[in-house]
Amino acid sequence: MAEVKQAGKTVTLPEVVTVRKLAELLGVSPIEVIKALISDGIMANINQTIDYDTAAIVATEMGFEPRPEAPTVVAEAASSVQAPELAPHHHLYAQEAPENLVPRPPVVTVMGHVDHGKTSLLDAIRLTHVAASETGGITQHIGAHQVEKQSRKITFLDTPGHEAFTAMRARGAQVTDVAVLVVAADDGVMPQTIEAIDHARAARVPLVVALNKIDKPNAQPERVKKQLAEAELALEEHGGEVVCVPVSAKSGEGIDQLLEMILLVADLAELKANPNRLAMGTVIEGRMDKSRGPLATVLVQNGTLKLGDHIVVDGLFGRVRAMFNDAGKRVKAAPPSTPVALLGLSEVPKAGSLFRAAADERAAKTLAAEQAQSGGTARRVTPRLSLDELYAQIQAGKVKELKVVLKADVQGSLEAVRSSLEKLGDEKVKVRIIHEGSGNITESDVNLSIASQAVIIGFNVQTEPTARSMAEAEGIEIRFYQVIYKLIDDVAKALQGLLEPVYQEVVIGRAVVRASFQIGKRGKVAGVYVEEGSVVRNAMARLVRDGERLHQGQIVSLKRFAEDAKEVAQGFECGVGLEGFQDFREGDTLEVYKVERVS
Ligand code: GDP
Repeated sequence: MAEVKQAGKTVTLPEVVTVRKLAELLGVSPIEVIKALISDGIMANINQTIDYDTAAIVATEMGFEPRPEAPTVVAEAASSVQAPELAPHHHLYAQEAPENLVPRPPVVTVMGHVDHGKTSLLDAIRLTHVAASETGGITQHIGAHQVEKQSRKITFLDTPGHEAFTAMRARGAQVTDVAVLVVAADDGVMPQTIEAIDHARAARVPLVVALNKIDKPNAQPERVKKQLAEAELALEEHGGEVVCVPVSAKSGEGIDQLLEMILLVADLAELKANPNRLAMGTVIEGRMDKSRGPLATVLVQNGTLKLGDHIVVDGLFGRVRAMFNDAGKRVKAAPPSTPVALLGLSEVPKAGSLFRAAADERAAKTLAAEQAQSGGTARRVTPRLSLDELYAQIQAGKVKELKVVLKADVQGSLEAVRSSLEKLGDEKVKVRIIHEGSGNITESDVNLSIASQAVIIGFNVQTEPTARSMAEAEGIEIRFYQVIYKLIDDVAKALQGLLEPVYQEVVIGRAVVRASFQIGKRGKVAGVYVEEGSVVRNAMARLVRDGERLHQGQIVSLKRFAEDAKEVAQGFECGVGLEGFQDFREGDTLEVYKVERVS
């Protein structure tokens, strides 16, 4: 907690001061000020102003000697106006003028190791904190729900776990503002706890730790905190920013405080949106309802979604016929950070897809056509980065670090590989391990690599089948090694641009020579019949005679009758000029191939 930092030092306080400014004046984090206020029974968020007397109490508690400032005409409020820090999913809000932005509720995902109580905690929160106006309403499962605390709303996503979180990110959607990391106090930091920390960190989403099962007799909160510190989580009590709240999903203890801390972290992030514009956001889940048709839950991230709005999602357009909130009640409008289930789409959209409201039907159709052309979603597709493409990107100044997801068989080899990798690079480019763990490469690793543009390196491990097919479909590079030396060597070479790309030949066509012609002074060309695939100008070809490869070179000319051709397909005849070869004979085979880079 806030130890006495500047004993006896005087501090001059104005008549009114914001929490943020007070923290600045006292040289402590705003969290410490807010906690001190809470212990004095005052609920204040970071931008709230408090009067001199209150500020003075906090200052005294922190070992200062407060003095009133000589009154001035300059309003304190003016100095507290700051440019909003942008949330990670900033692009949704990027074009908003600051004066149009108003605070919005935080969107929270619960993460943590299996059985540490994620689901129980979500249930406990929902049971105790459903909005007062909604009590009595039967909570519906729509994929997300809102609770109320201090008359403020918090939106929780119902699917816990970093897997779902990162799968969304891999689809280009980031909806989470705050991640609650559940750690069972009787079990401590486990592999998926670390994974969750890494995934939240890679997404730059702030964490609040819920130290769960505190009711259990064998709970050891201090031990868990030590483990968290060892996992390089900067806990607030050690001077960091991460708040840790002891809770029990079973007894309900600590849940109020957890919600307060979520609001606090949200305040620090200054989450804002513009409610007065056409809505946009992300599909949380979708299903086919037998009687009502396609039903989709969307999270409105910016703007307000209204009944009757034209919307576009996955290249399809529709109109909001009905909207239901998490209590199953019909609603007419959904402001930012609100989840609603809606009817009116012609098909079930995919989770993670972007939706947008459009001004009218025509605008919706145009937007839908644009989306359909760009492959369904309107997301910016992040380019994949493979090890041998890295150097070009470094040269172009596009990357400053090589992000790596590292999986190894045992902890010992992980440490050895990590320490060697971290020594590589220079001031231009560094290796950054965004996640490491022992065990096979999983879908969650592949998703993280997609979402964060990381290369996956496996040391003495394999890829789970589902992860492999996913990596193949997404063009994600996975590199396997059995010797550390080779692994380090390859990464070092990639950083220096020395990695030799591997090429392979792919046969694209086969043709048989039927005659040979003299073409002016330029030499002889072969008259061929294309038996398979096609013959392509500028491609490479091999001349095979009686099973023996006589020559290989580029196809420098290709003619169909007298016309130049780019490509001649199976079943047709053409004239082929081969670089460096003229001695064609009837019956020779021409094998046309191209060279592809293997990743
Ligand atoms: P999840 O896998 O992280 O979603 O964990 P669950 O919510 O399914 O909880 C796993 C087990 O721990 C269940 O048997 C819960 O009843 C139990 N559990 C969860 N929270 C608490 C708690 O605060 N106290 C106690 N004693 N048990 C809990």
